[in-house]
Amino acid sequence: MSSQRIVITGGAGFLGSHLAEELLRRGNEVVVLDNFITGNPDNLAALPQDHLTIIKQDVTTFLAIDGPVDLVLHFASPASPIDYLKLPIQTLKVGSLGTHNALGLAKAKNSRFLLASTSEVYGDPNVHPQTEDYWGHVNPVGPRGVYDEAKRFAEAMAMAYHRTHGVETRIVRIFNTYGPRMRLHDGRVVPAFIAQALRGEELTVFGDGRQTRSFCFVSDLIEGILRLAASDYSGPVNIGNPDEFTILELAEKLSELVGKQLPIKFSELPTDDPRQRKPDITLAHTLLGWEPKIKLHEGLQRTLDWFSKVI
Ligand code: NAD
Ligand code: UDP
Repeated sequence: MSSQRIVITGGAGFLGSHLAEELLRRGNEVVVLDNFITGNPDNLAALPQDHLTIIKQDVTTFLAIDGPVDLVLHFASPASPIDYLKLPIQTLKVGSLGTHNALGLAKAKNSRFLLASTSEVYGDPNVHPQTEDYWGHVNPVGPRGVYDEAKRFAEAMAMAYHRTHGVETRIVRIFNTYGPRMRLHDGRVVPAFIAQALRGEELTVFGDGRQTRSFCFVSDLIEGILRLAASDYSGPVNIGNPDEFTILELAEKLSELVGKQLPIKFSELPTDDPRQRKPDITLAHTLLGWEPKIKLHEGLQRTLDWFSKVI
């Protein structure tokens, strides 16, 4: 791939900063648009700065970028349940108005567009594992609805720009991804458990801990996303690690890693918390030749090492 000029909305967040890092490493120019509502410019501070521009901007307002753009990666959105429950209207606005603006930018620049969608479009799924042709089981009026429906709207908007304006759109449905640069107080289960383990606190397991998730290490996800961006497929594609664990098994893995039995505190399961989640990645494998390489044990170890330095 020759050098491109790539806009990343939400580029100061966890995934956005890893995308920026990898794209810079591959010789591209990166323009980050972020209002830092859940992200932090510090995530980009250690990256080579020569081909990186950081613009503080709320993407729900009109986006004006000078010069050519080859690709818009639309990653701006609160992503952790505690963030989007605290920021419900901002979450709906960034998924709707923000996606509209990012697509408008792609159309104006005649550039490609990739939407960061989510496994949450499947809601509390009745089909397991989840395939892209499953339409989902989402409660639109529950507290999580602000995120799920914003992303479902964003997917519909991307397809409308593709069908109506011929914009080259891509949709990645990201399943739970973890790794360095997540925030300690992000609230998602991996950083929550690691922070608790390192501080000698009890692990906060919600519900009975028998709900499942499938955890993907960030470097695997980034590789899958960049392959999808370069492909010619405009439908949604699941990217995630199909190895499925209960939350209690995740707690157990961490105990193994730190070499002692970590105590657990059970508390209430949040409303509409999906009971199970596991991606079917046949499509990603067939289309992109992609599959994750990093097993949970190794990814958790790397994440633990990073958190031990920052805590
Ligand atoms: P994050 O909170 O670390 O990053 C989100 C970034 O978007 C932050 O830097 C934040 O400041 C920025 N942002 C939010 N609203 C904005 C606005 N209106 N204008 C400009 N910037 C704004 O979260 P993340 O985990 O890096 O998630 C990134 C994207 O990937 C999100 O769209 C999320 O829905 C999607 N996603 C992530 C996961 C995951 O497991 N990490 C799973 C599914 C989907
Ligand atoms: N969870 C938990 N303890 C925590 C944080 C989360 O037991 O401190 C559970 C949560 O109820 C969910 C799973 O872990 O079943 C994954 O939660 P996360 O917020 O990481 O992501 P989600 O997949 O729900 O968006």
